[in-house]
Amino acid sequence: MNDTMAQPAVDYDIAIIGGGMVGALLARLLSSGEAGWRVAVVDASEPPAKASTHYQFDYDNRSTALSAGTVEFFQRQDLWSRIGEHATAIREVLVSDRGHLGGARLSAQERGRSALGYVVENAWLAPCLREAAEANTQWLAPVRVEAVVPGPQSMSLRLSGEAAPATITCRLAVLADGGLSGLHRQLGIEHQRRNYDQQAIIANVSFERPHRGRAFERFTPAGPLALLPLDERADARRAALVWTLPPARAEAMMAAPDEVFLTELQRAFGWRLGRLSRVGQRRSWRLALAEASEQVRSRLVLLGNSAHYLHPVAGQGFNLSVRDAAALASILNRAFREARDPGELSLLNEYWRKRQWDQTLTTELSDRLVKLFSNRRPAWMALRHLGFLGLDWVPGAKAGFATQTMGLASGRSGAGLISLEADE
Ligand SMILES: Cc1cc2nc3c(=O)[nH]c(=O)nc-3n(C[C@H](O)[C@H](O)[C@H](O)COP(=O)(O)OP(=O)(O)OC[C@H]3O[C@@H](n4cnc5c(N)ncnc54)[C@H](O)[C@@H]3O)c2cc1C
Repeated sequence: MNDTMAQPAVDYDIAIIGGGMVGALLARLLSSGEAGWRVAVVDASEPPAKASTHYQFDYDNRSTALSAGTVEFFQRQDLWSRIGEHATAIREVLVSDRGHLGGARLSAQERGRSALGYVVENAWLAPCLREAAEANTQWLAPVRVEAVVPGPQSMSLRLSGEAAPATITCRLAVLADGGLSGLHRQLGIEHQRRNYDQQAIIANVSFERPHRGRAFERFTPAGPLALLPLDERADARRAALVWTLPPARAEAMMAAPDEVFLTELQRAFGWRLGRLSRVGQRRSWRLALAEASEQVRSRLVLLGNSAHYLHPVAGQGFNLSVRDAAALASILNRAFREARDPGELSLLNEYWRKRQWDQTLTTELSDRLVKLFSNRRPAWMALRHLGFLGLDWVPGAKAGFATQTMGLASGRSGAGLISLEADE
């Protein structure tokens, strides 16, 4: 149905505002198998190159770490056979604290798994998800939603863009716009923001020794640093860097020549991968944790970054949204079988009740990780050090951390790390 831009319908059961990775996944889940919702996805950006024909290796591609739970879900949804074609297995995560002994090693083998998670370049993941959804949904792109107007029986979306109708209506609007378009504010929904005085530098780097599927999380006095393995080959020497620094230091590192950047990064990371030899294009992000003041209303759900925006250090944002999308789709697809209205508040409240605990736990985990590992006060440093030792030596704690970050926790079982530290 992706070629029907000439005469798009104007009335849908469900309209998804934003066809990023989260919006595309939800569209796929609502329109495949027995689910027969009439779904429209409205996306403001130009469609990405087709995964099937144009997947091009680019040194600078951005990546997403997918938890084992996300991968299992993608397998069940028949999405993984495609996405997995260009995925790098994380076989070990080595967590360390610069200047301290101790550290944690999380191993897939110890947990009886082939991988703790996988790293996939967004240039592959995003078009794979979109193409999986396109077959049974109407894509309007590039088309912008300018306003969402609630009504008792339906929502009206005012659109702008060539060949798009001026308005479409739907019984349920899913706001998956990434949170930056201002649509939530038009609806009176605010984002409660906690700004970290930190900036993340994202870049791909190369080094002397093969990574052998190892990911590294290193906590330094200036902030945490993560390296995620890229490329499955046995001699692969490229990784995705997320380096969190105070803003002034981050700006200096953004402006530094490559050699200076690599020297400073080497100082912070150490030599476990030998000499760092190349850094690609650098991009920087100001870091914040943002949560929408409301996620459900009659005929409205917020999803993805629009609902919650997390610090990227623990690689949880997309994985959390996959679990949200899976829960929402399961409730809505049951409603389809029961011939119910998808915008019914009782259904959407059921979704919210189901997701609240995991969302709170995951946002707290990433928030506390940042606070714990960025704090230089002696008491915190001692706690952090003990925490790490505990994490490595107390099997339950380590397993709990792995379980939550792998996205395999159910109910309250995944809170291992949180029990290691205290509130500020
Ligand atoms: C540096 C970094 C590293 C990360 N690494 C990881 C990781 O390793 N693992 C992980 O799980 N998560 C990670 N994340 C988080 C992850 O990237 C996000 O959770 C995810 O991309 C959110 O996707 P989304 O679809 O909600 O939003 P977006 O990707 O922002 O998509 C929103 C879409 O909405 C469209 N849109 C916006 N406004 C409108 C409008 N008015 N009308 C129509 N369309 C509109 C946009 O064009 C866009 O296509 C990372 C984030 C960052 C910043």
